[in-house]
Amino acid sequence: MKQVKLALLGGKPAVPAGAIRKWPPIDSSDEDRVLASLRGDNHAYGPNCRAFEDEFAAWNGNRFAITTNSGTAALHMGVAACGCGAGDEVIVPAYSWSSSATCVLHHNAIPVFVDIDYDTMNIDPARIEAALSERTRAIIAVHLHGLPASMDPILEIALRHGLKVIEDCCQAHGAEYKGTRVGRLADCGAFSFNQNKCLCSGEGGMFVTDNEEILQRARMVWSFGETRTPAKDRDYHAYALGWMYRNNDLTAAFGRAQLAKLDAYLETAARNARILAAGVRDIPGLQPPTVPEGHKTNWYNFTCHVDGAAYGYQGPPARFRNAVMKALQAEGVPVEVWQDFILPEMTVFQAQNAYGQGSPWNYGRRLSYDPALFPVARKHCETHFGMTVPLRAPNDELVAQHVGAGIRKVFERIGDLDIDALGAETGV
Ligand SMILES: *Cc1c(COP(=O)(O)O)cnc(C)c1O
Repeated sequence: MKQVKLALLGGKPAVPAGAIRKWPPIDSSDEDRVLASLRGDNHAYGPNCRAFEDEFAAWNGNRFAITTNSGTAALHMGVAACGCGAGDEVIVPAYSWSSSATCVLHHNAIPVFVDIDYDTMNIDPARIEAALSERTRAIIAVHLHGLPASMDPILEIALRHGLKVIEDCCQAHGAEYKGTRVGRLADCGAFSFNQNKCLCSGEGGMFVTDNEEILQRARMVWSFGETRTPAKDRDYHAYALGWMYRNNDLTAAFGRAQLAKLDAYLETAARNARILAAGVRDIPGLQPPTVPEGHKTNWYNFTCHVDGAAYGYQGPPARFRNAVMKALQAEGVPVEVWQDFILPEMTVFQAQNAYGQGSPWNYGRRLSYDPALFPVARKHCETHFGMTVPLRAPNDELVAQHVGAGIRKVFERIGDLDIDALGAETGV
């Protein structure tokens, strides 16, 4: 006799409807700053942009910051500023957001993928050296889902081979490695302020560095190839190929208001994650996020791995995962597959169609982007689900408890689910 029926089978959802509130919270401090910008007279790269740069650099402990219209722009600036050019190779994890790799193509350089570590979901440092060649110039260290990459071995390899290291901090605001904030661990870093990130200004980004030479090179890429900033006297001369990656005043005003609340947001996420992790502890077949010693995550995404073998399921791993996700979603637990493909599988790499006419590969090596070379990243695609919003402010401990209870409920009643029928359907 089942006391509690799964919501998928007509029971009551574990998470009450409307309990999970949207991200980000907006209050009068956001409204005041944005309205003041609107009433000002510089809507382009205005005073809020300069203040946002100063405040973000101070918050993160960087010497320099340049605010951009996206995290992707900041990544491209890093690739260019680190001296990667036509045909040069840059090491990138096989599993990340597309722009961790396409930022390399933007500067006519060639991404070389390296498989990930299953538990941390970040690049596996033990596999980097085998991917290096004479053309390798840099490594993009992605702190995926807010967990810092294993920086000591990455920096050690970079030092030994004379490579630059660019941190992709787009999901990792406030994360730390051995007590140091991400964005301060290598040559330069890129943050995103897109809707889903832990600091949201709609869209937007920040390039950070402590190196003056890298700063100047990044600045040229950022604004039309000019060497002077829009704030100072400009001569409007393109000294090199530049883009238009500047942020605007309204967005920066929103970003400043959110930055003032970022520490409190991160504390909320850490508290909620602790409660959720406790709620799902020791569930057979469920592996909650791994946080190795010395790593401090910002809990951007609470990503778990599932293993149907714990329930005697022998079919395709993705089918089990999809069936469990459907049951969780019915309980009101908003789990998602973050990405069910690895980067080398994307058409831009399979077809090698970046700039056309073979570019950038014709300047260097033509690489094989065979997905079979990245078995760990492939496995991750089939076995994970994650969630972001339930951990974030304004959601509190009660939401974390509901979500944890919903997950436990589904795993305790796996036997009630027709895994093959549910998991084979699409639409999760
Ligand atoms: C979001 C994200 C980016 C890109 O940031 P945008 O602001 O959307 O351009 C890059 N890398 C990772 C890991 C991201 O999550």
